[in-house]
Amino acid sequence: MQSIPHFVDGARLEGADELPVRNPATGEIIAYAPIATDELINDVVARAREAWHTWRDSSLSRRTQILFAFRQLLVEHDDELAAIITREHGKTLADAKGELARGLENVEYACGVSEHLKGDFSDQVADGVDVHSVREPVGVVVAVTPFNFPVMVPLWMCANALASGNVVILKPSEKDPSVSVRLGELLRAAGLPDGVFQVLHGDASSVTTLLAHPGVDAVSFVGSTPVARQVHERASAAGKRVQALGGAKNHLVVLPDADLDVAADAAINAGFGSAGERCMAVSVVVAVGEIADELVAKIAQRADRLRVGPGDDPASDFGPLISAEHLARVRDFVTRAPDEGITVVRDGATAARDEGYYLGPCLLDHVRPGTRPYDHEIFGPVLSVVRVANFDEALALVNDNPYGNGVAIFTRDGNAARVFARRVHVGMIGVNVPIPVPVSAYSFGGWKNSLFGHAHIYGPEGFAFYTRAKVITTRWPQPSDSQIDLGFPRTR
Ligand code: NAD
Repeated sequence: MQSIPHFVDGARLEGADELPVRNPATGEIIAYAPIATDELINDVVARAREAWHTWRDSSLSRRTQILFAFRQLLVEHDDELAAIITREHGKTLADAKGELARGLENVEYACGVSEHLKGDFSDQVADGVDVHSVREPVGVVVAVTPFNFPVMVPLWMCANALASGNVVILKPSEKDPSVSVRLGELLRAAGLPDGVFQVLHGDASSVTTLLAHPGVDAVSFVGSTPVARQVHERASAAGKRVQALGGAKNHLVVLPDADLDVAADAAINAGFGSAGERCMAVSVVVAVGEIADELVAKIAQRADRLRVGPGDDPASDFGPLISAEHLARVRDFVTRAPDEGITVVRDGATAARDEGYYLGPCLLDHVRPGTRPYDHEIFGPVLSVVRVANFDEALALVNDNPYGNGVAIFTRDGNAARVFARRVHVGMIGVNVPIPVPVSAYSFGGWKNSLFGHAHIYGPEGFAFYTRAKVITTRWPQPSDSQIDLGFPRTR
């Protein structure tokens, strides 16, 4: 049985075998991770602070070189990393490589740190007075990440945080924690000094200790909404800078003029890819007007062709869910749906196997607000179709939803898409694009219950979050400037 170590000061640090890690494709326990004790957390935070004093003064060119080297190592190790992800998460190898590729983008963006951290300079704002601004690192950043993107989400955080001179303590999900240790080793191989990137395993209790720790300056969290809300409140109360990204209920609105084959393809890809365990997965298809019957039929035909199986089988379109508990929860939304007047067009339960947490594509029709499948984030391969009469009803439906992560509209009408994008209360919008995850030069973030705190993650807002501004006003007085003046300094 494998023991997953912490990664402290550039080396593996063994702990007790406490948290079982399963292979979702078989259900068997394949490893154990430790839980960081309070004593270890105190020690690691102290070491991280120590490392920060040197790292914050490292030159931008050195940081860039390390990030370039890290990028190269990620590319060279992509088969190995994808295999680790698939073994503990269950997603297909192709999807694991897709996650790596999207994470890599953030490292590439961070390589431009000398551009991103450029300050401003104003010459002669008053007689003999100049002003310039700089952005300095905040210090020790704690990164808490979810199970569904064990590489991409840590890279969303650590690429920009490290580039801007912070040190990072990563607390990965306890469900698929191995790959984070490899990230630490690859960062070290790329030249990152020891102590600048640490990995501590654990559960809610470890996070709670980190949030209250006086040696921690900022917290980046991604996970479910109830935890995100709590993390935001606790870290804020402890005086930390915090961004906490939560769950989602992403709608795909199909207007009557849309190409229904393209829309059905998009619903399938974004609804069932990674077994629906993506924060930007489409979970609600909003059929506008008379097209609903035809659209549902097209989605059902495509769903019938999908193959669910182990992530390392190239024939699988998507893999198992993360755990037995999660499988039971997702199944429950489908089995109880008829009680609420919902039509179960397709129940994926037939894909179940003797071992592993498999559920095939499920399609629900005539779903409405106020029913369980609509009101909860399901986070599984379940697509709900809501039928509405017109554009205004579709827009109101999306805007009334408490989540606001992503939304997509499928149409051939440019003006309708433009009006929708302007009026919708959602952070990331796709026009004929079902999973509108912004490229790394833009920032990622939802509205409403999908994000607590104001800062979106990665991209320009990432750099802003991991740095604080300093403005320096300078004057080099000459002997002839000598005077006493108790007035408030004026620029004119
Ligand atoms: P989760 O909230 O259960 O766990 C996330 C992290 O928080 C883990 O590291 C976990 O150990 C820790 N944690 C769990 N309970 C905690 C508590 N009470 N206090 C402090 N820390 C705690 O989420 P998950 O099941 O791992 O991930 C799936 C969720 O994440 C979904 O809701 C999904 O929508 C969301 N997600 C959101 C985004 C986004 O960008 N908005 C991205 C990926 C995933």
